[in-house]
Amino acid sequence: MLSPHKIIHGSTRPIISWESIDTVLVDMDGTLLDLAFDNFFWHEIVPSCYAKKHGVSEGHARTELLGRYKALEGCLAWYCIDHWSKDLGLDIRALKREHRHLIRFLPGTIDFLTSVRKWDKRLLLVTNAHPDTLAIKIDQTRLDQHVNALVSSHEFRSPKETQEFWERFHADERFDPLCTILIDDSVPVLQAASEFGVGSVVGIRRPDSRHPPRPIHHFPAVDGVCELTGG
Ligand SMILES: [Mg+2]
Repeated sequence: MLSPHKIIHGSTRPIISWESIDTVLVDMDGTLLDLAFDNFFWHEIVPSCYAKKHGVSEGHARTELLGRYKALEGCLAWYCIDHWSKDLGLDIRALKREHRHLIRFLPGTIDFLTSVRKWDKRLLLVTNAHPDTLAIKIDQTRLDQHVNALVSSHEFRSPKETQEFWERFHADERFDPLCTILIDDSVPVLQAASEFGVGSVVGIRRPDSRHPPRPIHHFPAVDGVCELTGG
């Protein structure tokens, strides 16, 4: 359910009535942090290590792994490093730690978070990332210093794409959906939040800085969070 009272579709960007919002839910990967890291990790580093470990070509490994990723898209297992460590025979935690220096903010992230905190909104980072992945990213970026709390959907045993997640998260956090905004680069997540009744949802068109923005239909969207606070 989209609330036309909260977001007005401007010609170039949505205009948000921040005064009617008290809770801001913000995704991590592809919204605050550059998805370039995750794409490089899963599409380059993991296939390369898998190829070495199993004695196959990198091309073969990439094709096989992309198929396996695709099969679990939108499921909690996709985000679960235990699942992938076991399935691929690789220490995904150690690999992520080894490459964590490649983790980057998207442009304007800290300015956006600082503005939201200054306006005295409750600001929660809500991610599908596994708690261990979240810990690695927090260690590297200190994002925890800019939000009120960190939430991993693994705590609720369902990904953000599902109503189960929103029901369980809401039962725990008790936010008023009508006074809440969700900012996320995943269209299925925007859809699920909107169906649950989150009053305002905004998509991110450019989650990976190496690629141009992609269109997001049916939901208000911006290229990046820096456009949301007028900065
Ligand atoms: Mg995301």
